[in-house]
Amino acid sequence: MSEKLQSPRGTRDLLPDESLLFRFVEESAYELSRKYGYGEIETPIFEASEVFHRTLGESSDVVSKETYDFKDRNGDSFTLRPEGTAGVARAFISEGLSQNLPLKFYYSGPMFRYERPQKGRYRQFFQLGAECLGYESPYSDVECIALAWDLLKKIGISQDCTLEINTLGDAESRTANREALVKYFTDHKESLSADSKVRLEKNPLRILDSKDEGDRKIIANAPKLEQYLNEKSKEFFKQVLAGIEKLGIPHKVNPLLVRGLDYYCHTVFEFTTSKLGAQGTVLAGGRYDGLIEMMGGPKTPGVGWAAGIDRLADLTPKELAVKNDLFVAVIGADEKGELESIALAHELRSAGIRTENLMSGKMGKRIQKADKMGAGFVLILGESEVNDKKVSCKNLRTGQQDSVDRTQIIAHLQK
Ligand code: ATP
Ligand code: MG
Repeated sequence: MSEKLQSPRGTRDLLPDESLLFRFVEESAYELSRKYGYGEIETPIFEASEVFHRTLGESSDVVSKETYDFKDRNGDSFTLRPEGTAGVARAFISEGLSQNLPLKFYYSGPMFRYERPQKGRYRQFFQLGAECLGYESPYSDVECIALAWDLLKKIGISQDCTLEINTLGDAESRTANREALVKYFTDHKESLSADSKVRLEKNPLRILDSKDEGDRKIIANAPKLEQYLNEKSKEFFKQVLAGIEKLGIPHKVNPLLVRGLDYYCHTVFEFTTSKLGAQGTVLAGGRYDGLIEMMGGPKTPGVGWAAGIDRLADLTPKELAVKNDLFVAVIGADEKGELESIALAHELRSAGIRTENLMSGKMGKRIQKADKMGAGFVLILGESEVNDKKVSCKNLRTGQQDSVDRTQIIAHLQK
């Protein structure tokens, strides 16, 4: 083999530094989801191709150009999951869960899309998401958005994110809007991009999602969804906004916001950031009342979102992740200290604290090593500390050094 082996285009190896951030994001999301009553679900990484082809819509970007489709040795067609909602909906139907509504699910894992790789856009990427099935209430949209907002706060990036929100209205409103859009875009067909000409045939709403500059100019004057909302849809959106205001979640209504997938209705939303260049959407979702029925299940309302872990991890301040992951290095400075240090390390681990006992090398080198490994504290034990029943504790982030009572050390670290 002459060429150097590399990971496939658009995939990457997550080394421990990066994994630490991924874990922090996932653990934060997992804990918060539990508090909100979302139970974890894990669906297969591949599903029968029709699970995605039918639900996302043949004309969606994802299905028309991004799925990894393959036939297995038996000749059956499968697709690596490009997103999580369709798999959760499939599980809901095939596990016969419709008697247990409402149901709230949390998931996290790798997704696959054949995309042009760039920063923040990969072929294997990671998403975590939340799906709430069985509630028609607009306040379940609010609760779902509140979970997303709490997550962004918890991982220290909410100040860099903006919630954009819009409504697509119910089926009746969407049909009226669709007719108006078809008329408008047909009048401007010659100036549309090739992609949007195809969208005009298949799903005109999706033209509003186009990133083509020529399209954007035409879109700016297109008939606004808002004009076609019936009273029911307007009322629904009013309640969603009232709930979001009640919780004090900063947001802005973006009348041009649509979602790239077929199954959305009423509320759609995205959290965007200016800190990641072109890949600015970190979390996106909406209501999908028609999805389960479209897949052959009983009519079941739903609302949910998915977030790109790669992008969240990129924004998360490393200090937060490190702080969340209390990690302590213990150093025995002399013979007496070394014996005591194995007891101290043992105690710390029993208390649930990740501990590394650094047993060799010069003192300075060991402290450097602790820092390099990402430890937050170094605890040093020598003969004098042992005699005085003390531990000398150095905070590697602030440089502060304290002599702490041996009995108080765990409390001190957890402070
Ligand atoms: P984009 O407009 O960036 O292509 P999308 O609309 O295709 O996003 P969704 O299907 O809504 O994305 O997925 C939800 C989130 O998953 C996105 O907001 C983003 O954070 C993340 N995501 C989507 N595709 C990728 C990818 N190829 N690499 C990394 N993250 C991704
Ligand atoms: Mg995309």
